[in-house]
Amino acid sequence: MTASPPTATAKRVVVVGGGLAGLSCAQRFSEAGWQVTVLEAEHHVGGLASSFTEDGYTFDLGPHRLYSNLDALNEHFKRVLNGNWDYRNRLSRIFMKKRFFDYPLKVGNVLTSLSPWLLFRSFWDYMAVRLRNAIRPIPDDNFENWVVKRFGKTLYDLFFGTYTRKAWGIPCTQIASDWASQRISQLNLLDTVKKTVFRPKGDVRSLVTRFLYPKTGGIGELSEGYRRLIEADGNTVTTGARVTQFDTADGRIARAHYDHDGASHTIEADLFISTVPLTALAPILGESQPAAVTQAVADLKHKAIVFCYLKLDRPQVTPDHWVYIPEEHIAIHRISEFTNFSKECAPEGKTMVCAEITSTIGDKYWTMDDSDLLKLASDNLVTLGLLQAGEVLEGGFVRRIDYAYPIYDLTYRVNVKTLTDFMKSFDNFISTGRQGLFRYGNMDHSVAMGHAVARRVLSTDDVDHAQIAAEDEYFG
Ligand SMILES: Cc1cc2nc3c(=O)[nH]c(=O)nc-3n(C[C@H](O)[C@H](O)[C@H](O)COP(=O)(O)OP(=O)(O)OC[C@H]3O[C@@H](n4cnc5c(N)ncnc54)[C@H](O)[C@@H]3O)c2cc1C
Repeated sequence: MTASPPTATAKRVVVVGGGLAGLSCAQRFSEAGWQVTVLEAEHHVGGLASSFTEDGYTFDLGPHRLYSNLDALNEHFKRVLNGNWDYRNRLSRIFMKKRFFDYPLKVGNVLTSLSPWLLFRSFWDYMAVRLRNAIRPIPDDNFENWVVKRFGKTLYDLFFGTYTRKAWGIPCTQIASDWASQRISQLNLLDTVKKTVFRPKGDVRSLVTRFLYPKTGGIGELSEGYRRLIEADGNTVTTGARVTQFDTADGRIARAHYDHDGASHTIEADLFISTVPLTALAPILGESQPAAVTQAVADLKHKAIVFCYLKLDRPQVTPDHWVYIPEEHIAIHRISEFTNFSKECAPEGKTMVCAEITSTIGDKYWTMDDSDLLKLASDNLVTLGLLQAGEVLEGGFVRRIDYAYPIYDLTYRVNVKTLTDFMKSFDNFISTGRQGLFRYGNMDHSVAMGHAVARRVLSTDDVDHAQIAAEDEYFG
């Protein structure tokens, strides 16, 4: 995977963003002999898939399972991780009404856990909605309609609507149905029954049951692997380098300005590739932007996340990789334990729970003191009965990420198109990755986007990186 150092006359590419899309793309150019510079704003690589090691605990920005539907990509991940990987058998559940429910839903589990009245209502609603849909088809025009049509109102409220409303902070009628079709593995209640009873093999909408995870160092090891490969080729990955402006001239990017080590720098290149969030990118692309672009930037929104990491003096809270918590009186919406991903993530006999709270920049959770956040997370887990009062150790951690989830509201597609068309008006510029395409994709999608961009430039392949994770494909 490594190549000889680039020659002085080799073409130059600047990649902005050292997350997986940027690094995987940069590594392909590096391999092809280009002069590559990656500029990453944070003081570490990895972006959303970063890891941190402090006080003997290794933790990620939320739970990250690494998997692709493409075998070749899984093999590529193993090569980049250079032996530092293992398989994990996934366990994720919903915790509600003091009980665990399998996720995705399994009929047996629902039958034994719901009261007879709720079961009756679920069945009745489901039959009613099927009938209603047969008489006058319900449009798939938003998340709520998509799910109610397939599962009935009671199951929607219990397992889908409450959680989604809590995690996104907006009514589910304002969320595009793409979100449902990409993230819910069952096509409808009947499909849930079939999957529980028959367990079909090779079903593309089956949940990923086994995934890759680094043996040590957390999910950030994948980005570290790319960084090592790029640097081994004699190319550069600069962290702590925030791009502040792209100068444009004659429909091209002339240079990028960036801040690094307290000074301003400029860099020129033949090609600029950006993985900066679309809405942060447009305002720094050239001196002025068309009014439609400014409006689209204002209309597109992201959800932020606050991560509260609680150290515990016991080896395990649950065996799950992650647990969803839909109940609305509880602030946290999901917990995960990195020791279930790799035992190396905590000192012997201890574990750490990562409790996530979705937020909006500037809201009460975003601005809350770290110590208050840790107390809130711990109190929530005690209320749920998952922890005992007083068993949380001193010295937890808090991390906040601003561009966590692009919000797929009902007009996002139009706004994204306005921005991507604007980006495409510059010849030597490509915006890609989860943030650069405003795409709620996974790690494998970001890597596939990075690779697709490189293939398109380096070969005659006209693969379109913008089509990745754009369709009704189920993400697992
Ligand atoms: C809580 C959570 C859980 C997830 N779980 C999973 C999972 O289980 N499995 C899975 O496959 N995926 C998961 N994902 C998704 C996965 O993390 C992302 O899809 C992937 O890491 C995105 O990579 P990216 O490079 O496209 O974007 P990013 O990681 O966002 O990278 C963009 C980079 O650009 C940098 N940047 C921004 N502005 C500038 C600037 N002006 N100058 C320089 N640099 C800049 C940022 O600092 C960042 O490093 C999860 C995401 C979240 C938030």
